[in-house]
Amino acid sequence: MGRSGLSGMVLIATLSSMGMTLSGQSARSASDDSWWLTPHRLLQTNLREIDATMDTDQYVRDVKEFGANIVLFNVGGIVANYPTELEYHWRNTLMEGDLVGEILEKLHKAGIKMIGRFDFSKINEKYAAQHPEWLYVSEKGQHVNYNGQVHTCVMGGYQQDYLLKILREALTKYPLDGVFFNMIGFPQVDYSRNFHGICQCENCKASFKDFCGLDIPKHDGDPQTLRKHQEWKGIQVDRQFGRVRDLIKSIRSDIVICTYTTKYIDVIRKESGAPLGQEPWDDVERAQWTLLTTENKQLANTTVHFYEMIFRHSAAAPYLHSRRVWQQMVNGAWLDFYCIGPLQRLEDRAGLGPISDIYRFHAANEKWLLRTESAAEVGLVRRDGDDYWGWVQILAENHIPFDLVSFAHSDLKRYKALIVPESGGINATHARALDDFVAEGGKLLLSGRIPDALACMGRPALKKTWPMRHSMYVRIRPEDKAELRVDGLKDFDLVHLRGDFHEYEPAAGTGQMLRLIHDVMYGPPEKCYYRSVSDIPALLVHKHGDGMAASFPFQLGAMYREWGNLGHPMLAVGTLDNLLQTGRRLRIDSSPLIEATHRRDLKGRLEWIALYNHSGRLENSFHPPIPIDGVRISLKTSRPVKRITSLTNRARLKPTNRSSGELQITLPRLNVFEIILIEYGD
Ligand SMILES: [Zn+2]
Repeated sequence: MGRSGLSGMVLIATLSSMGMTLSGQSARSASDDSWWLTPHRLLQTNLREIDATMDTDQYVRDVKEFGANIVLFNVGGIVANYPTELEYHWRNTLMEGDLVGEILEKLHKAGIKMIGRFDFSKINEKYAAQHPEWLYVSEKGQHVNYNGQVHTCVMGGYQQDYLLKILREALTKYPLDGVFFNMIGFPQVDYSRNFHGICQCENCKASFKDFCGLDIPKHDGDPQTLRKHQEWKGIQVDRQFGRVRDLIKSIRSDIVICTYTTKYIDVIRKESGAPLGQEPWDDVERAQWTLLTTENKQLANTTVHFYEMIFRHSAAAPYLHSRRVWQQMVNGAWLDFYCIGPLQRLEDRAGLGPISDIYRFHAANEKWLLRTESAAEVGLVRRDGDDYWGWVQILAENHIPFDLVSFAHSDLKRYKALIVPESGGINATHARALDDFVAEGGKLLLSGRIPDALACMGRPALKKTWPMRHSMYVRIRPEDKAELRVDGLKDFDLVHLRGDFHEYEPAAGTGQMLRLIHDVMYGPPEKCYYRSVSDIPALLVHKHGDGMAASFPFQLGAMYREWGNLGHPMLAVGTLDNLLQTGRRLRIDSSPLIEATHRRDLKGRLEWIALYNHSGRLENSFHPPIPIDGVRISLKTSRPVKRITSLTNRARLKPTNRSSGELQITLPRLNVFEIILIEYGD
């Protein structure tokens, strides 16, 4: 067993003895050998060959000022930025001296780590002509030459063997802290998005035949052969990284391996590059889900500086980058920003300030930020589709911190409440896990059909599924409002309903709330009314063991995602707070445009509440957020509080009420972001 394997086991054993497991909600803390599990601040300046002439002192100063503590720097592959002695490794012709050696020495002197970037997906046309057997072959039987760089194939000798020679040379020559691989696998398009299809080279043909006895397919070939090909590709990529890992870790076990795959990798790289930021919760999901579902790995999810491939020098909005970096940071992943060329040559610099503000904030507050775990009390079972994303939005806008939950990886018992979007799709095994959770005192909220195998709702009989109609509503009766106790519901006697509604014959002892209105005329205006409200409940509540389950028999989250009507979230929050009595510790009384994240350290000495202000957005523009004054926070705690601090300015905050076991804190002003730190005494 190698050193890294052993230290991984020691780490797991240590955490287990502290009653913790390595999951996404837990901190990734590092032994010396796995330093990368601790969140770092990565800056990737993807160098062009012309950048060999940059000012290297300025480069290091810029990195330091930016707040990064690790740099992703182009070392080799397409262009070698060091004086390579290998015959088929293109030395940067614009370089005088040794760019990698010079930068690495200066960075290390400044206490900054360096991950070397390698790209073996293409090779200079001069070498390509000498080794056609290394190259990718398109479905038309052609090589692909893009700007003088010819596509290589994973199965060819360059990526199979020569790659190892290059890595060995670079890693024995330079004390790199890590290695990153770009453009891995079997790409079928070039940078102009021209489609070239499945590689038809002799190596691919022979290996695929060995694998399954079939001829290599084209992209529109027999579906079963294409599935086989998919499987074969995965095996080849894993095999390649297995060999790469063996080599790298034999040179030094603390060299981190980073790329876009998972197996044999230490830091998983992902990218947020949707130019207009259409997905406000993508970074939250990616950070939480990646850390939850992988063991002993970290995530570097980069925010991509530019709009898209064809506009590499023009940047997406500054506060879009800011939002992404923040969401990665407060969910325990690395901070990661990527641009083309060194900062000293960047021609659109508007985003640097807002991104750097968060990097420097992280640097100044490492003591509080590095070793924490989620303190969320609500788990949201991760699903696909509108209902799931609607629930993400409902929880976020109502400042209810949540963890994404995986039945395979999460410890359900740590949550007070679980929410299951699109619940009809839950299988029998997972239904049993939910039943156990409720029996032991948990609170469960379902959205959609009740799973057949679920017992905790009393197994109500499904009488009918009302199909999507043009006009259905949910009546909110006075007695419903009395139980849900949400002030805003005084203005709502109904909310509209679209999509399947599941009518149940409730089991004995089931609470039946809200009512379906299903017979509504909508034209002409003279006839726009309904004559009756049905007895069909639109919210069922059932006690089970020590806990309780509730079900909206329609996809309430999808309604909010599609329509944004304010009544739907109020039904959700009232159900969580007052019907299921989740009893959440944290409440924030302020604008829904504030995103809140709640974490604590592993030893119970502190917890913090992170706030991000989303208010600057209008259409495709992200402007500086409008300051929000008087953010009121209440937090239940029975422990003696030593200090409460807002970390952006180190101001002490005085709680106004601490006698009733509830701290009341007012943050005078939230600009872009804040973390409120609560430290406990002994
Ligand atoms: Zn091939």
